[in-house]
Amino acid sequence: MRIALISHDKKKSEMVKLAIKYKEVLAPHTLYATGTTGTLIMGETGLNINRKKSGPLGGDQQLGSMIACGELDLVIFLRDPLTSQPHEPDISALLRLCDVRNIPLATNLAGAEIMLNALKEERIPTAKSDD
Ligand code: PGA
Repeated sequence: MRIALISHDKKKSEMVKLAIKYKEVLAPHTLYATGTTGTLIMGETGLNINRKKSGPLGGDQQLGSMIACGELDLVIFLRDPLTSQPHEPDISALLRLCDVRNIPLATNLAGAEIMLNALKEERIPTAKSDD
């Protein structure tokens, strides 16, 4: 599976803890992340992550483009609902494209854990491309 990991600044420690907890589940998959999130996860877990630009500098758009092209199967985006983000339009676009393409999307820790447990148990089918 091709999995994208994104987290806003106040959610980065949650994301790192999640990646540590599910390191063995994530390891066999192809991982992508926005710049800072990816650097932190790699540093703390040693997981191999394909890093895009930082979110505010276009990383969300890059991942959104991958979704549009059918190149991502699963997205975990730990969002901060209490802080306004300068790149809100990019974030909305990414979330919208997940819905357009029917890509499983978790935007908080509880959803992410359910998703990663389903992944562990191989209960998430790979999205079929309908290009
Ligand atoms: P970052 O981007 O991982 O580079 O901080 C995340 C975001 O704010 O969308």
